[in-house]
Amino acid sequence: MPNPIAPILQPYREELITQYTRVFRTQMFTSRAELRPAEAMQVVGEEVAILLQETLSAEEAFARGQVLCQRGVSLQIITNLGRVTRQIILTGAEQSVGLSLLDIYDRYVNGVLEGYFQETEKLILSEQERIRGALQRAVGRYTIEIKEVQELAERANEANEFKSQFIARISHEVRTPLGGIVGMSEMLQHGIYGTLTADQKAILDRILNNAKNLNQLFSDLLAQAKIEAGQLHLNASPIVPKEIVESIYMNCLPLALQKGLALKTEIDPELPARILGDEIRLTQILSNLVINAIKYTHSGSVLVRVNKEPAQKWSLQVKDTGIGISPEAQAYIFEPYRQVEESFQGQESGIGLGLAIVSQLVSAMYGTITLQSRLGQGSTFTVRLPYQVVSVSERS
Ligand code: ADP
Repeated sequence: MPNPIAPILQPYREELITQYTRVFRTQMFTSRAELRPAEAMQVVGEEVAILLQETLSAEEAFARGQVLCQRGVSLQIITNLGRVTRQIILTGAEQSVGLSLLDIYDRYVNGVLEGYFQETEKLILSEQERIRGALQRAVGRYTIEIKEVQELAERANEANEFKSQFIARISHEVRTPLGGIVGMSEMLQHGIYGTLTADQKAILDRILNNAKNLNQLFSDLLAQAKIEAGQLHLNASPIVPKEIVESIYMNCLPLALQKGLALKTEIDPELPARILGDEIRLTQILSNLVINAIKYTHSGSVLVRVNKEPAQKWSLQVKDTGIGISPEAQAYIFEPYRQVEESFQGQESGIGLGLAIVSQLVSAMYGTITLQSRLGQGSTFTVRLPYQVVSVSERS
């Protein structure tokens, strides 16, 4: 069908294209056009040409709208096109002609919009379908992965439990005969089976020392296995800090004297005599620190201090005049199985679990451990813990 409006619009052709392009260019950067500016200009140009040269039936306009949609032209561009055209017609054509033109334009724009909407709807539906499929596949994969992770976690738990049980069994199997060795050696040492020669006594001392070290090693392994398996349970019963310090002092004094070291203790009289705590674990923390201090000190002293701190806290401090710890080593010595190579010359070393256990126990008690040390100038380990005073009813 020949375009009845084409001859009327012909004189305005240049003006229309210029207007479209100008308005469109200014709106391009503020509107939500999905095309790049150059592509959008081209589409606008095509639309103007269609309006000027052909008349599109509603179906053709509809098809045109679908094409525009497939090219990604946004709805806003199409409505802009209609609005700008109206302005030009109203200002550029005689009113009577303008009204019938508006009618044709409205049909054109409506047809285009309808095609656009339908195509957009189709696109949205197919996109929804695609997303639904992808989602189903992802959910399927996710379900399988969750199952796999659960199985792995179960297997890891079983392995961990097995490891803890295994270590507990081995520790028990080893510590029982070790207890026998220590006991019998002590009987020999005390002369129950007759007086020993100096050589025999020296050898017996070494047997006892090695047996005690082995015993410590297995009790560390057992404690670490328990912590890793989440089986560490703390008690809160009334304890007397002074008694804990004294018992550690008595146990460690022979070790210190053997090395010619002075072992001293200081207890803050301000600290309540009885507080709530886990005696076994507190003893483990303090004796680990004191044994280390003696182990890594060649001359001088080891001082154990227990203080009352502000804000319902108390501290256990072990200060030595030993070999000290370099800043690099300070960064890792609290990790399990980590040791400082240089410390071992001529030493009986452990397996690097002592400080890891101490720091994990301290954390479990909501406390902190800090270390001040310089190579060759000794070390000070300070454990700070919250405390609760034992109430009258708990004493009885
Ligand atoms: P280990 O069984 O080797 O003693 P620990 O975890 O108790 O394991 O200590 C880790 C490392 O930290 C030790 O190997 C030692 O090098 C260093 N260390 C611990 N305490 C001291 C200390 N008081 N003085 C110097 N070095 C220390």
